[in-house]
Amino acid sequence: MSQIQPRAQVHDIVVIGSGAGGGTAVKVLTDLGFKVTLLEAGPQLNPMKDFKEHVTPYQVPHRGAGAAAEIYFGKQQWGYFAAPNGFWEIEGEPYTVAPGNKFRWFRSRIVGGRTNHYGRISLRFSDYDFKPYSTDGLGTDWPVTYDEIAPYYDKAEGFIGVTGTHEGIRSAPDGNFLPPIPPRVHEVLIKKACDKLKIPVIPSRMAMLTKSIHGRAACHYCGQCGRGCQTASAFSSSQAMVFPAMKTGRLTVIPNAMARELITGDDGKVNAVSYIDKLTRTEKTIRCRAVVVAASACESARLLLNSKSPRFSNGLANSSGQVGRNLTDTVGYGLSGHIPALEGLPKYNSDGIAGMHMYIPWWLWDKKNKDFARGYHVELGGGFNMPGVGSFHGAAGRHEGYGAGLKSSIRAEYGTGVGLSGRGEMIPNEHTFCEIDPHVVDQWGIPVLRFHWRWSEHEINQAKHMHKTFVEIIETMGGTVTGLRNPEREDGGISVGGTIIHEAGTVRMGADPKTSALNRFSQAHEVSNLFVADAASFVSNPDKNVTLSIVAFAWRMSEYMADEMRKGNV
Ligand SMILES: Cc1cc2nc3c(=O)[nH]c(=O)nc-3n(C[C@H](O)[C@H](O)[C@H](O)COP(=O)(O)OP(=O)(O)OC[C@H]3O[C@@H](n4cnc5c(N)ncnc54)[C@H](O)[C@@H]3O)c2cc1C
Ligand code: SF4
Repeated sequence: MSQIQPRAQVHDIVVIGSGAGGGTAVKVLTDLGFKVTLLEAGPQLNPMKDFKEHVTPYQVPHRGAGAAAEIYFGKQQWGYFAAPNGFWEIEGEPYTVAPGNKFRWFRSRIVGGRTNHYGRISLRFSDYDFKPYSTDGLGTDWPVTYDEIAPYYDKAEGFIGVTGTHEGIRSAPDGNFLPPIPPRVHEVLIKKACDKLKIPVIPSRMAMLTKSIHGRAACHYCGQCGRGCQTASAFSSSQAMVFPAMKTGRLTVIPNAMARELITGDDGKVNAVSYIDKLTRTEKTIRCRAVVVAASACESARLLLNSKSPRFSNGLANSSGQVGRNLTDTVGYGLSGHIPALEGLPKYNSDGIAGMHMYIPWWLWDKKNKDFARGYHVELGGGFNMPGVGSFHGAAGRHEGYGAGLKSSIRAEYGTGVGLSGRGEMIPNEHTFCEIDPHVVDQWGIPVLRFHWRWSEHEINQAKHMHKTFVEIIETMGGTVTGLRNPEREDGGISVGGTIIHEAGTVRMGADPKTSALNRFSQAHEVSNLFVADAASFVSNPDKNVTLSIVAFAWRMSEYMADEMRKGNV
């Protein structure tokens, strides 16, 4: 354990991690007048330099494929053009997976975390999502209702900017929306088929701006959000929250600072955070009145489990033994199809925003007697997006001939495919969790996580239902199934755990300190000045992508924390 300098400056609030949760905490707390210090394990971001939004392949060496054509051999992690510092594997910062289990962990190390990389699908949880146990006897109910969190969804959507329409569908609650984005031809055809099958297809809810708000420009429809958006028209916590908070003069950002341990005093409260300064490779300590942990669901659990002391011998805030437990990801399964009706169309720019303009909300939420609990939504893919490196990989194997003939076959094929990706709810189970691996440390000497993963019959049957539905939709469109959307990920008939990148539940909230680590405001039951602002606090992981809910819950947590600090309760 590192020593605290007795006369060192005491910071009001230290926030650890700057993704969706940490960014929101930083924004709300500085707006409320608090001085905040942000510890971020990655470097500072400079969007104008780091984002390659409008760079075309011919402007860069090897078209961005890498000097040894790494991209073709799966050796380039996320592609040359992607927003920086998002990794499936981080050199020197490993994690382990229990023998016989499969899990992959995508981490970002940069100011803004994974919000620089994410797809920006922004769906509210439904009223019934907060009462899973009451609904079907599985899992645990939340200590919060939809009505309590709805005002924070309003605030989150109003601030980050989410497109959408009011539909009155219970599984897809309406929100505080910006105008929707018009559908493209493949989406219109999917909707036509789904109308016949009585499956709803509605405008997507995406955190991209169809109108300028809060000093961020409206989208110019270049379709490259995954590369990072220089005009901040796509939401990221770095551009929309952290940078404006820095301008208030109340936020200090310490980049390249990997929190290692939370240090508690005799009163059982956190009074300091020890971190590794990655640039000097030294350990430093910062004193604080209160701390917000927002390092992402699994990193936050890791930090608490690594913060042991005689009083908290099981890890901090972990008398319940729930830290690291209840880990979930989203169920993923997808199919691609070839649609003859899309053949021979003139090729035009259909970029729009990156990602879908329409989606399918869960439509069987009130049907009993399925062979799985809960449900899924469907994300739609297709269109004539700008081709990139690797877009035509394998084309020579699919088509006869060479030269002009081959080129014309490739052109004719381009844009004639659609993709349907199911995203469903996983129910927490006792076999799926993370813990500290007693044998492995990272390059900073910090013990790493070991993951355990098992899907239950509910998730496996849900993925089978996705398969059946997608075949039906593609065939109703007059098309044929061409294969899995993502064979590397979904080969076993269901995604590998972690690969949908929606981890949640590892420091869950609850009314009972015996079965939960946090109270209903994400404050540790047993450490009053410790708060958690990421999806670690979630009690369940509904089919809706988690990030909008992370922002809403972090917003509510921050207002509560500010109030408690002002009352002197923290
Ligand atoms: C390609 C991709 C697509 C996605 N699409 C969607 C989508 O469409 N919709 C959706 O809702 N979600 C999506 N997600 C998930 C979304 O990105 C995450 O849910 C969200 O970013 C989580 O926010 P967070 O604050 O919990 O953590 P993160 O965004 O992961 O941020 C955590 C931050 O903490 C820092 N950190 C970690 N450990 C430490 C430490 N010990 N000390 C200091 N700092 C630390 C990290 O460097 C990082 O910057 C996607 C993710 C990816 C990668
Ligand atoms: S499509 Fe719009 S939101 Fe996405 S990168 Fe381009 S301008 Fe930004």
